Amino acid sequence: MTIPFTDISQVYYDGAWHDPQAGTEPVVNPATEEVIAAAPVASAQQVDAAIAAAREAFDHGPWPRMSRGERADMVEKMARALRAKHAQIAQLIVAEVGCAACITHLMQVDNPLRLLETAIGHARREQSERLPIDITPNPFAPGGPRSIGGTTVVREPLGVVSAITGYNFPFLLNLAKIGPALLAGCTLVLKPSPFTPFSALLFAQVAEEIGLPAGVLNIVTGGIDEGQLLCTDERVDMVTFTGSEGVGAQIMAQAAPTLKKVHLELGGKSALIVREDADVQSAAAMAATVISINAGQGCAIPTRFLVHENLRPAFAATAAAVAGKIAIGNPADPAIGMGPLIRESQRSKVEHFIELGCSAGARLVCGGGRPAGLDKGFFTEVTVFDDVTNDMVIAQEEIFGPVGCIIGFSTDEEAIRIANDSRYGLNGAIQTADAAKGYEMALQIRAGSVSLNGGTGTMSDAPIGGYKRSGIGREYGPGWLREYQHEKSIFYPIGK
Ligand code: NAD
Repeated sequence: MTIPFTDISQVYYDGAWHDPQAGTEPVVNPATEEVIAAAPVASAQQVDAAIAAAREAFDHGPWPRMSRGERADMVEKMARALRAKHAQIAQLIVAEVGCAACITHLMQVDNPLRLLETAIGHARREQSERLPIDITPNPFAPGGPRSIGGTTVVREPLGVVSAITGYNFPFLLNLAKIGPALLAGCTLVLKPSPFTPFSALLFAQVAEEIGLPAGVLNIVTGGIDEGQLLCTDERVDMVTFTGSEGVGAQIMAQAAPTLKKVHLELGGKSALIVREDADVQSAAAMAATVISINAGQGCAIPTRFLVHENLRPAFAATAAAVAGKIAIGNPADPAIGMGPLIRESQRSKVEHFIELGCSAGARLVCGGGRPAGLDKGFFTEVTVFDDVTNDMVIAQEEIFGPVGCIIGFSTDEEAIRIANDSRYGLNGAIQTADAAKGYEMALQIRAGSVSLNGGTGTMSDAPIGGYKRSGIGREYGPGWLREYQHEKSIFYPIGK
């Protein structure tokens, strides 16, 4: 059976499909280790041509000159076309990423589309801003007649955007770049992870289907070299990146000589605080389940469980029991809760961290190995460590696998101090019977979001992003488009 979209054999730029000049690369299903298709790989010349097409479309094409409403209509067409392909997109993601089907439909496809639909609404409501009238002194004759004036702030598209994305939620990450960039009037070149090229190329099919003008959305494939070109080329105005902290730092350095705007969504090591008054059973069950989502390959997943000392034994026992019940196996099976890691290299990395945890004196309460009976695929067990101290490597580094660390605390102040003792600041969570106290604690956590008592709030309308080394800038929410816009102030006199 052919997986949807894996028959795409060309890259897309300047409104046309092109044979890949750098050949093809096999894309592997991480659950079966079988090759699902040979993906096209763009050459350096093709990346160059894609940037040229985006520049031309920005400088001379209709897209930046259309009204906000016209662009929103077009992006709405895109959203509808993507919705119509929901089932196929989910099938592709299960095969490319290995994410369990039950999670894929909601979190990898439906939620991203809801975010896009919300952004379309915001784009339609966008307006120029009139600042209050101001009285300014006479610069030419101090003490002379002053003038009054007004200012209107207009928002204009930032220009040509390079978008570079990781593999773990590929449709979401790609959509999170394409959606706001297009709504703002930018043109872009997107380069996805080489592990998940088809989750990006499908957008080119949709661009064609809806009649997006040539050069507005260009999709090239490849790895580090192609990504570097997108960061260094002087025709590019902005780089938006979702991926690891280390690559984020490289991207900043690569973009520095041409002073591009850089927008980064990076890694995390988020803390879940379980206060003494919390329902320990439900907190532990939630913690163990959440680390299994997409086999722990989620930037915002809380992986440090800060648990009040009086609850720690019960928390560890329940987390181990729940983790042991999570069905691991072929993610295409709807009864499966957790699929594999993306590649053998990622599994080796996770196993290396597990070894480091054991040798540092942390105690395995469940997992730590490979699940029995799964000879093919990059599977790993859901793993929970107890007796972890926050200075251990496993408590400081982003493991990007289903591994949780239990760290004890005795006071709220200590819990907050440990939560903030991380170079990351992406997300956080608090479980408590005293929601008001939990809210006060959330205010003290240095992270871009905090979930109180499992709340997901109005997720489709909230800005998300990182403090510290988890990123620069925000995605989603009412200000999403601003990342892709310049503000221009136009001053004028009012009366005489
Ligand atoms: P990665 O950093 O290894 O790669 C991401 C992309 O960068 C790929 O397309 C890769 O080809 C490209 N790349 C690598 N080196 C480059 C360079 N020097 N110049 C330009 N491009 C380059 O990330 P990954 O392993 O695919 O994804 C996992 C990471 O992404 C984790 O750290 C995770 O926390 C993070 N992530 C963050 C968010 C967020 O919103 N904050 C969301 C999802 C994933």
